[in-house]
Amino acid sequence: MSTEKRANINTMVARLPIVDQCEGCERIREEGGAKVCFKYAEPAFHWEDGQICLMATHIKKEVTVVKKAVNPLKASKRMAGKKK
Ligand code: SF4
Repeated sequence: MSTEKRANINTMVARLPIVDQCEGCERIREEGGAKVCFKYAEPAFHWEDGQICLMATHIKKEVTVVKKAVNPLKASKRMAGKKK
């Protein structure tokens, strides 16, 4: 789909107002006196059931890297097995 067609569709889609969780997001636009999301037509859907909106710009997602304890003896055996 071309960018022009997508832009036309974006203007035709009825957008619902943002929800409280959206406050502070950079994708909020004023449209007809109401705050709407420029990305999603129904912002509430993206915050349902404790979800966090994937396109939110005001929330830092924490990635936790769990380091797994490795037995050095088993690791060396595993590596020796791969070399063959
Ligand atoms: S991108 Fe997500 S958080 Fe931002 S306004 Fe839209 S629905 Fe809300």
